[in-house]
Amino acid sequence: NNEYPDLVIVGAGLFGLTVAQQAVEKLGVNVRIIDVRDHIGGNAYSYMDPETGAEIHKYGAHLFHTSNKRVWDYVNRFTSFTDYVHRVYATHDGEVYPLPINLGTVNQFFRAHYTPAEAKALIEEQAGELAGTDPANLNDQGISLIGRPLYEAFIKNYTAKQWQTDPSELPASIIKRLPVRFNYNNRYFKDTWEGLPVDGYTAWFEKMIDDPRIEVSLNTDFFDESQPYNKRALLEAGVPVVYTGPVDRYFDYDLGELKWRTVDFKEVRYDEGDHFGCPVMNFSDADVPYTRAIEFKNFNPERADQQNPDKTVVWEEYSRFADRDDEPYYPINTEADKALYAQYKQKAAEEPNVVFGGRLGTYAYYDMHNVIDQALTAYEEQIEPMLKKD
Ligand code: FAD
Ligand code: UDP
Repeated sequence: NNEYPDLVIVGAGLFGLTVAQQAVEKLGVNVRIIDVRDHIGGNAYSYMDPETGAEIHKYGAHLFHTSNKRVWDYVNRFTSFTDYVHRVYATHDGEVYPLPINLGTVNQFFRAHYTPAEAKALIEEQAGELAGTDPANLNDQGISLIGRPLYEAFIKNYTAKQWQTDPSELPASIIKRLPVRFNYNNRYFKDTWEGLPVDGYTAWFEKMIDDPRIEVSLNTDFFDESQPYNKRALLEAGVPVVYTGPVDRYFDYDLGELKWRTVDFKEVRYDEGDHFGCPVMNFSDADVPYTRAIEFKNFNPERADQQNPDKTVVWEEYSRFADRDDEPYYPINTEADKALYAQYKQKAAEEPNVVFGGRLGTYAYYDMHNVIDQALTAYEEQIEPMLKKD
């Protein structure tokens, strides 16, 4: 099969890019990456906005953070990171509060000057209605974490906007990762390392695949049989494939559709240098229809001299259920979805010469560092053995 490369990767997201980089570095093989989109980087792609000088994250704000040394060392081979530290604010009932819920939030909310111990005692008392239970859903989890008043102010309506599902029907796990702090630390992430790529996401991704043995075909759909790297042709020729598209789509939705949420972005431009004074403003109340607004300029204050001092651009996020034609963003993961995915996973494992990976290929919400870690492991355990077999 001379006309084919040694490995075809479907999807130029972080999973696909990591696998391509590893295959070339470790085995010196030829790799073809295809992507149906007109750019590499998958959902982490960004572009520069000429009017404001902001780096716009096309599929929603992406902040890199990890505590995984292997991943941190790996990504630093391709880019350095700014000293950006993620902090989020929330507008509730006409006031701006710091998030995640911390002593500053608590004291502002209760118009108090509680010490850490006093605040803790108060929250424990307010959470007491669910004391000793193992919260079965997001509603109970929220109340038992922070008590009913704070839950109703900062979680309940935001979550309802984000998920359009009653919080009592959502899994507790969605907010388990939200910390509550009895001090004034308002860092959003608690990872060891955090930052944004100094020259932007796209420069980072281009560097990963900057090798003549890696070729990229954009605007190329794996399921389009008029292009050479399509599913039928590759399977017939026995070419090793790494597939990072939706797993149910691969099997023609044979067993049914896995459910996702998507986000619509509404772009708003302001004739002022800074609209919110921070990169992310959450809107906790039901009367604002969007969940949060992202002011991209504020992710890169170190680029002030390349940014327009009189203009800014903001994206408002509206969350909703995804149709088949929408971008799938957050797996809904109901019990029915989980059972369906288990069946697809079985089929995927039986597919010869194809390794499924990434968030779409394994129906999971992963951060970038998770996906890179999984790609490094999948390369070692599954992909390199598949390549050596030929
Ligand atoms: P993707 O990036 O989705 O790449 C898959 C690629 O496959 C896509 O480019 C797609 O076009 C392509 N593809 C699909 N089907 C086909 C086909 N038939 N033919 C050809 N190509 C195909 N992570 C963080 O670490 N920090 C954050 O702050 C963060 N924020 C996020 C915010 C949002 C709104 C979302 C949705 C995700 C966020 N993430 C964040 C997660 C991050 O985007 C993912 O971890 C990462 O991008 C996943 O990489 P991937 O390669 O698995 O998938
Ligand atoms: N959340 C909330 N209020 C907020 C921020 C988050 O209720 O101001 C809840 C909400 O249910 C959301 C979850 O916490 O789905 C996770 O939020 P995070 O911002 O970590 O996730 P992202 O939307 O960035 O993936």
